[in-house]
Amino acid sequence: MDRDGTLSHEVGYVNHLSRFRLLPWTVDAVRLINASGYLAVVVTNQAGAARGYFPLSLIHEVHASLEASLAAGGARLDALYFCPHHPTVGEPPLRLDCDCRKPRPGMLRRAEAELGADLARSWVVGDRMGDLELAWNVGARGALVKSGYGLGELQYHAPRARRPPDLVAEHLLEAVARIVDGAAEAAKA
Ligand SMILES: [Mg+2]
Ligand SMILES: [Zn+2]
Repeated sequence: MDRDGTLSHEVGYVNHLSRFRLLPWTVDAVRLINASGYLAVVVTNQAGAARGYFPLSLIHEVHASLEASLAAGGARLDALYFCPHHPTVGEPPLRLDCDCRKPRPGMLRRAEAELGADLARSWVVGDRMGDLELAWNVGARGALVKSGYGLGELQYHAPRARRPPDLVAEHLLEAVARIVDGAAEAAKA
């Protein structure tokens, strides 16, 4: 899962903890993933760190808040990865042409190495076509949600993409429910 616009409100840069607000269905969606046998992994680009808009410590603070909100609702993440880099802006070491900035596959390769994620059977759910490009770059499938940037991405960007989204959903909970259902159907067949 993408973070901003998918798990939480898209507000531009989350440069203060007060700007991080979960969408109302997020805890239910993650709990459904937990019950399904899929791994629940967040992959988020946070180039605001490279740009000097906020310190790395804020990213950790936001993620601690996210994990606490999930835990309060009986949900949990198997991993949470972020890319703080930007290829051309800011100062080293965060100014870096890294392999983890989405749609490059570094964060998903980490999930594969550290968690044994089976990427060919995985989905990336996000509100940007770049999230789907990430999925396709590792042979996974991509689901576009209409929260965050999703509606605009669907209208103006998806028609120019290399292939259509594998799934379009109103929001994360609908995407997860349909993915989990599909997997259950496939297991029965
Ligand atoms: Mg997003
Ligand atoms: Zn990176």
